[in-house]
Amino acid sequence: MIKGVKIRLYPNKHQQNQLLQMFGNDRFVWNQMLAMAKARYKNNPSSRFVNEYGMDYLVKQLKVEYSFLKESDSSSLQISNHNLAQAFKTLFKHQGGYPRFKSRHSAKQSYTGKSTCKIVAKRRIKLPKLGNIRTSKTNRLNGCKIKRYTLSLESTGKYYLSLTVEDNSIKPLEKTGAVVGIDLGVADLAITSDANKYPKFRTSYLDKQVKAWQSKFSKRKYRATKAVRQWNHNHKDYKMILDDYQNWQRAKRIKACYQAKIANKRKDYLHKITTELVKSYDVIVIEGLRTKDLLKNHHLAKAISNQSWREFRTMLEHKCKWYGKQLIVVKPNYTSQICSSCGYHSGKKPLEIREWTCPKCGTYHDRDVNAAVNILNKGLEKLKVRD
Ligand SMILES: [Zn+2]
Repeated sequence: MIKGVKIRLYPNKHQQNQLLQMFGNDRFVWNQMLAMAKARYKNNPSSRFVNEYGMDYLVKQLKVEYSFLKESDSSSLQISNHNLAQAFKTLFKHQGGYPRFKSRHSAKQSYTGKSTCKIVAKRRIKLPKLGNIRTSKTNRLNGCKIKRYTLSLESTGKYYLSLTVEDNSIKPLEKTGAVVGIDLGVADLAITSDANKYPKFRTSYLDKQVKAWQSKFSKRKYRATKAVRQWNHNHKDYKMILDDYQNWQRAKRIKACYQAKIANKRKDYLHKITTELVKSYDVIVIEGLRTKDLLKNHHLAKAISNQSWREFRTMLEHKCKWYGKQLIVVKPNYTSQICSSCGYHSGKKPLEIREWTCPKCGTYHDRDVNAAVNILNKGLEKLKVRD
């Protein structure tokens, strides 16, 4: 089983400087290779594309010319080349745009490596070039084999280590014999066919903070830009740059912190629900979402992004696979219009209608629970066909 694990890193001052250099080196190699590819094409459009092995060879020569490249985890430069070659491949297949140069000012700085790294203590990992580095708890990595690691500095000013690991210790969960259909709602996050409702995730306080700091950020940025322009107009000898105004950078960082907090809380919440579902049921049926249709509806758009249906679904997919449970995805047609007891098709209902009574059999329905039952029935039919 391959899974992702993200832990905090606490590099010391020296390691922070090293990391800065290493992020820069990755960017440098990427930009050099991209410039080379561009120049080659310009000189001769029919010249052959230099593949990643060719690029790896060029890096060796670059290392002679630019000795600072030797300070990098060399596997990270190979991965940078691999990624660039991949980007070109998708471009050639007309599946992606032209690769772009990387900037020092981008929100997240990172590099990915694939050499060996070793867990040396409960809160320490040994990484190539950096040596022994302090981390948050590593016990989630017990019994795992590390495949790849990404070190990053995020806009919140925090360092992270994201690992792709192979975990062979995951065992299937006990079977419960229970099946469930899940409707992803607007008022509630998820509604099960046995009428369990998981409320929407609320972060109104944090949302307010994000908004407040966003507005502080843009005000300060505006003021700083104006001040810099004025200063530079009046002083010919000493020019100021935007980076001299730390206040708006601080606002940017605080805003990013609140955003990260929201994302983390949401993730925790979704993990809790999906784990509970996978533990309780053997077969879970959900709808394939027509996100495109829904996004046309302006009010729904925000609800969708807030509720992170996609994240919910991905988590369910992974956990069902890990724990030996079955996830079935059914087409979302008419699930809220059909009566789940008699099958009567009662037509389209506006979203405001939360409850209704079937005109044929007289059953009183909760809109979302009825939809969840329909989803479950569709899933069970699909299961029968497959068997
Ligand atoms: Zn009915």
